[in-house]
Amino acid sequence: MEIAPGVYSLSQSKGFDVHAFLLDDGTGLTLIDTLFDADAKIILNQISAMGQTVTDLKRIVLTHGHRSHLGGLAELKRQSGAPIYSHEWEADIIAGERKAQCVSWRPQDPLKTYHFQVGNNLNLSKHPPCEIDHYLRGGEQFGPVQVLHTPGHSPGHLAFYWPERRVLFTGDAVVTSPKFMAGWPGFVLNARQHEESLRQLAEFEADILAVGHGEPVMADGTQRLRSLLE
Ligand SMILES: [Zn+2]
Ligand SMILES: [Zn+2]
Repeated sequence: MEIAPGVYSLSQSKGFDVHAFLLDDGTGLTLIDTLFDADAKIILNQISAMGQTVTDLKRIVLTHGHRSHLGGLAELKRQSGAPIYSHEWEADIIAGERKAQCVSWRPQDPLKTYHFQVGNNLNLSKHPPCEIDHYLRGGEQFGPVQVLHTPGHSPGHLAFYWPERRVLFTGDAVVTSPKFMAGWPGFVLNARQHEESLRQLAEFEADILAVGHGEPVMADGTQRLRSLLE
C-alpha cells in the first residue's frame, strides 16, 4: 500500500502485524526492516509490482535487532547485494552472534504480547543471520530519510524522518497493534531513554507515523505522538 508518494507500507500478520517500508525517491529503493518470513516474498513481490527488480534495492536498514523485523534480511542481501545498515549495538544480534537482550518476564499490558516477551527471552525463533556492512549512529542522511537514534525499546533502536513526505518511521517506539501506544511496555528496556526518544520524535512535523507493528497512523502524526507524552 502506498501511504505517501514513494512510501510503501508492507506487512504480515506473523510477527504481530509487523511492518516494513519500501521508499522510492527515484534514485533507487531504500528498505526499512524486512518483515518476519525468511523468503522475503512479500517485499520481493512489491518490488516487482512497482515494475522494478531486486537490484534496484540500493540499501537496507534495520530499526533494531528483534526477530520480527529480521526475517527476510539474509535473502534480500543475497538477491540484491545491497549494503546492510544498523546501529552498531544491534549488529552482532543481527549477525546471529548474540541473542536479543532479555525483556521483562512479567506479563504486562497488552497481554497479547506476552508470548513475544517469552519468545524473545528464550530465543525461541531464530532469524537467518546476516552481517551488517555499515553502522548508523543517528544524525546521518540515509537515502531520502534522516536517521534518528531513539534508544529505549533497545539500545541501538533507530527511527527515520522523510521531511518532504512528512512521514516519521518510528520503529517499535510506537505501535498501533493491538492499540495506539508508546511501544509495548513489556518490551521497553529503558523507560527513561524511551521517553526521551518519544520527546525527540514528537519534535518532527509529521502527518504519517509509520510504526513497527500495526497499520500506520495516517493523519496528525505529531499531535498523536504528543498525546502519548501527556
Ligand atoms: Zn522490537
Ligand atoms: Zn517489533
